[in-house]
Amino acid sequence: MPGHPATGQDQAGAPVDNEDNWGYDLYPERRGDIPKPKWWQTAFFGSGQTNVEKTHCERNVYNCFQNSPLVKLMYSALKASGCEIDLRRHIACEVCDIKVSGGYDPKFNQIVVCQNTARSSGMVQAILIHEMIHMFDACRHQLDFKNIHHLACTEIRAANLTHCSFMSAMAQGDASFFRIKQQHAECVKTKAIGSVLAVRPDVSKEEARAAVDKVFTKCYNDLEPIGRRVRRNSADMMRAYTERGNYGYD
Ligand SMILES: [Zn+2]
Repeated sequence: MPGHPATGQDQAGAPVDNEDNWGYDLYPERRGDIPKPKWWQTAFFGSGQTNVEKTHCERNVYNCFQNSPLVKLMYSALKASGCEIDLRRHIACEVCDIKVSGGYDPKFNQIVVCQNTARSSGMVQAILIHEMIHMFDACRHQLDFKNIHHLACTEIRAANLTHCSFMSAMAQGDASFFRIKQQHAECVKTKAIGSVLAVRPDVSKEEARAAVDKVFTKCYNDLEPIGRRVRRNSADMMRAYTERGNYGYD
């Protein structure tokens, strides 16, 4: 779920300079375009299909905020940092390019959940946590998403705290502890480089890798606000949530 959409046009709708253009094609609704229904959508479902998708997506988002310990933990952490989430204001279900499933729009401080690609509640949960880490970093650290080192850092943190922890948990059966640690760090690097490239098509793979390497140690060891790398289906999710008082979140 990489990708921070940037609005490619300013308020008046005029094209902006190239630097501001990154990523915007992936989120057509951010540009004010109404996505045209695909021919098969019209043929089989009528154009009401996009509304059905949106309702389904919004229900998944709502359920995560009700039931997911990690989404609730991130909500508490954001609130404690003075960046309380209002579901209607800060989270939008939209039709995106099929290459992406979610994103964070720093300009509007909004999380985009792609209703056409993120269809399961598990996927929506993963997107919400990942993008809420970006939102947390933006709130806490005055993140500049155009600065490639800032971007690399927040992508390292998001991959570290969620995606790669799930992956390493699955490999644990037949791997030594040392190997898991190495694999985990490698996973975070690979995932973060991929996320940087998805947001910044103007950057080469080597530049993305160099940016991730430069900030890796510092950002990899910054586990706020979840406090531990989370393993899927383990007690960690619940434990992180129940221990949130230790970090000053209510
Ligand atoms: Zn990301």
